[in-house]
Amino acid sequence: MPENGRPAMPLHELHWLLDMVHNLDAGLVIIDREHRVHLWNRFMENHSGIPADRILGQPLRTFFPDLPEEWLEHKFRTVLDMNLTSFSIWRQRPYLFRFPPPRPFTSRAEFMYQNVTMLPLRSVDGKVDHAGIILYDVTESALARNQLETMNRELEKLSRIDRLTGLYNRGFWEECLHAEFRRFRRTRQPATLVMFDVDHFKRINDTWGHQAGDEVLRALAQLTRDSIRTTDIAGRYGGEEFGIILVDTEETRAVHLAERLRREVERLEIPHGETALRVTISLGISQVREQLDSHDQWLACADAALYQAKREGRNRYVVRPCLDCG
Ligand code: GH3
Ligand code: MG
Ligand code: MG
Repeated sequence: MPENGRPAMPLHELHWLLDMVHNLDAGLVIIDREHRVHLWNRFMENHSGIPADRILGQPLRTFFPDLPEEWLEHKFRTVLDMNLTSFSIWRQRPYLFRFPPPRPFTSRAEFMYQNVTMLPLRSVDGKVDHAGIILYDVTESALARNQLETMNRELEKLSRIDRLTGLYNRGFWEECLHAEFRRFRRTRQPATLVMFDVDHFKRINDTWGHQAGDEVLRALAQLTRDSIRTTDIAGRYGGEEFGIILVDTEETRAVHLAERLRREVERLEIPHGETALRVTISLGISQVREQLDSHDQWLACADAALYQAKREGRNRYVVRPCLDCG
């Protein structure tokens, strides 16, 4: 019985075992402290194009100058000095050996994604001077995972966007308003809300049809996008009502933006067949204040201002008329 307590293996069984090692659908490599190769199975031969008889006894770096030497050495130390098995998955490091993708013609991958296990190997004298590397090809599942994540990101983006106008939809925009309100509570940085609604929009639909109405909404959204800073947050609040959160902006500056937008809308001509459609908007402006209990109240102030603008004749802006809110 040898030192490690296991019964001696008959020679023919060792051959079987070696045969299986060579035919395994995973890469098997054994290296010593100088990173010299002592085992290079068929998987490694096939994917690297390097036959075992050329690489055996040679340091890995001779054949793989781009290998992450420092990382490998660090792993190697953990494995040998602490006698621990170490794992690295493709998310941490997409590959150890840069191999072509397993199906180069049909795969969308640029290389083979790999999970790597490194384990200490004890010699007959009980010393640990070699490490075994097991390399798994996980290209298909990595690609599927990446694709799923891309799709999820797209979906998340889509769920924030209003399809007609490309602005944020009401749900997401309200979340932003809430976040901005909380930021104000924390930092006391000013922010101003501008709500606007198309005047007599029903007439556009009634006279020119719903599609013409949609064209008008798209044009107004584009004009809004062009008029605000990238940090400002514009959303479609309802049918023909829009909201803009002007971040780090005092009421006086918001008034300038509102008046400019009002004038530009007034001048805007939206081509529709032989004619050009024209509309006006009414706007309500409200700067966030300490007296407000919630973002809903803030919104209610801007809305009250907007409806006052409607009552006072439309095509105008009104600033914070809501006396209840202080
Ligand atoms: P006011 O000046 O008081 O705002 O009058 P208004 O006609 O704009 O107001 P009202 O709220 O009565 O009408 C809004 C219209 O907007 C009614 C609705 O059919 C139309 N609308 C809402 N969403 C859409 C949309 O997505 N596309 C189109 N084309 N019309 C829409
Ligand atoms: Mg309207
Ligand atoms: Mg409306």
